[in-house]
Amino acid sequence: MTRKAITLLPEILRNQIAAGEVVERPASVLKELVENSLDAGAARVDVTLEGGGVARMVVQDDGAGIPPAELSLAVTRHATSKLASVSELFSVTSYGFRGEALPSIASVSHLTLTSRVQDEPEAARLDVECGAVLSEGPAALAAGTRVEMRRLFASTPARLKFLRTEATEAKRCQEVLMRMALARPDVAFSLTLGGREVFRLPGGQTLQARLSQFWPPAVLEGLVEFSREHGELRARGMAGRPSHAQNRPDRMLFYVNGRPVQDRLLARAARDSYKGRILSGEHPQVVLFLDLPPEEVDVNVHPAKQEVRFRDEGAVFALVRLALAPAAGADALAEQSASYSSSIRSGGSYGSQAWTPPPSGAAAGSSADRAESRGAAPLGDKPGMLRGWQAFSNPERERVVPLPLAPRQRSPEPTSSPGLAPGPGPAHLSAGPEPRPLSQGGLEYLGQIADTYLVLRQGGGKLVLVDQHAAHERVILENMRRARSGGDSQPLALPLELTLHPSEAARAQELWDELRSCGFLLEMSGAGKLSVRGVPPSLPAGKAAEFLRDALADRTGGLAELWTMLSCKSAIKAGQPLAVDEALSLLEVWLDTPDRDFCPHGRPVAVAFGAADLERLFKRK
Ligand code: ADP
Ligand code: MG
Repeated sequence: MTRKAITLLPEILRNQIAAGEVVERPASVLKELVENSLDAGAARVDVTLEGGGVARMVVQDDGAGIPPAELSLAVTRHATSKLASVSELFSVTSYGFRGEALPSIASVSHLTLTSRVQDEPEAARLDVECGAVLSEGPAALAAGTRVEMRRLFASTPARLKFLRTEATEAKRCQEVLMRMALARPDVAFSLTLGGREVFRLPGGQTLQARLSQFWPPAVLEGLVEFSREHGELRARGMAGRPSHAQNRPDRMLFYVNGRPVQDRLLARAARDSYKGRILSGEHPQVVLFLDLPPEEVDVNVHPAKQEVRFRDEGAVFALVRLALAPAAGADALAEQSASYSSSIRSGGSYGSQAWTPPPSGAAAGSSADRAESRGAAPLGDKPGMLRGWQAFSNPERERVVPLPLAPRQRSPEPTSSPGLAPGPGPAHLSAGPEPRPLSQGGLEYLGQIADTYLVLRQGGGKLVLVDQHAAHERVILENMRRARSGGDSQPLALPLELTLHPSEAARAQELWDELRSCGFLLEMSGAGKLSVRGVPPSLPAGKAAEFLRDALADRTGGLAELWTMLSCKSAIKAGQPLAVDEALSLLEVWLDTPDRDFCPHGRPVAVAFGAADLERLFKRK
């Protein structure tokens, strides 16, 4: 084999190779140019795009400018005004520091750099085509910098092929600019696309005001402001309530020290905060700014600087969870409710939210913006209701004993629950005419409808519907949580015998301790034979075998999912008539349960209609 000699690559080729990392598409060019403008202290940034940003892109700012003598350095690789030593690399506060963006862009396009330093009489211009300087000289420009890029990838057709349609590339540019604009509401931005102005944002806005330029009012009204600190870590921003979750994932935006990032850790922490409160497939809205000392985070792990690495991941995760807890409605778990109520109140005009009746039988769920038209909010979301909740969520208070609510067969004769009359037939309002007051929250129980929903009135002005299955699930889950250490068990007169598949037996070994802590008394009797001598008190014996089968077949879930499943299996079902006393005791215990607004699967347990909602329903307003 013949060997070629080792040679140093020509500068232009080196830049073109580097460009492969930094300059992927018009949106990545735009990101670099806007970052440069912000690093230069610009108070306004105007962006013009033509042909999806491929044909032409202009970014003009009123920042510090570049002196004429440094123009050619600006397009030289590893030349930067932002970093002087390795030690500074670990404490960067500017967006840029690698000195790669302009030379990379200039190597794969036609770039014209025009700039004038504040208080200097004249501007200067530099024209570069595919890495080669074409011309240089004086120019006319107000103070600041104007970068014009034309014909991206014209000389590298292979790269051009990877681009999408003009419209798609333009949309990505728009998203990039939006993300930057949200990070810097103090700076004015404008975007002109193909001669049409898409937006013009004034400087000095609040985050909320700026968000209102991008997100619809129905989403905005569900947002809660948050801010949490721990040591030198700080998480602040705005996040949507679970009731406003949508089945689009693109409204979760994360920033680290002002830099937009796509970070798995932050996304996971955010999802975790909402776990059990939104349905699978739904996503909350989150705009989260994490600020921390620069040495606590490495931004130099990715050429486009979109990924970061935290020194203390655990602390970041915990802080983000805590910061989002108020918006996610996780107050009872995270901490006591003082900060919750104040942030809910600062959430503004939520109480006047519109309720639109769902289209009859229609699959409204498929539209991306479904949640924007979705109305009736979970009970605890309404300010009036919240005050009620706070009044009676006293952690010191003794727990009410578990309900005498063993799920009953729908047989006409009274069964295991003595003293409880069997309910009447389905779809019947089963309570008498007498409203029955509950001990808390100014609530009265009116009756059951469709053998599924409990109807309540609150303080005369509000209609509240409670899903009996969801409420009971939540109660049982909480009781199991509390009984966990006790591991109470209800012995079976006749042990249950299950024959297990080898994979089920292996899973049983894995879950052994967890199952016992739930109250199962288990024994392996010979190969693949499981005998069950006791079951959790809340689980009807008849359901135990089914539950164990399900638990052992599922390889994913741990204890938390096991409990959720157990609570679902044990809970009274929809379509089961409840006697007045049964309904009342369910409601009383449910009202005492933390996290009561959502069932363990994340569905709302209760919905409330205020007078205003009803007026709207009846088209009085
Ligand atoms: P980096 O931003 O990593 O330093 P760039 O290649 O993006 O590298 O830019 C090189 C240099 O050009 C910057 O360090 C800065 O001094 C100068 N520069 C680029 N854009 C601007 C701008 N809009 N305003 C002022 N100076 C700029
Ligand atoms: Mg830069």
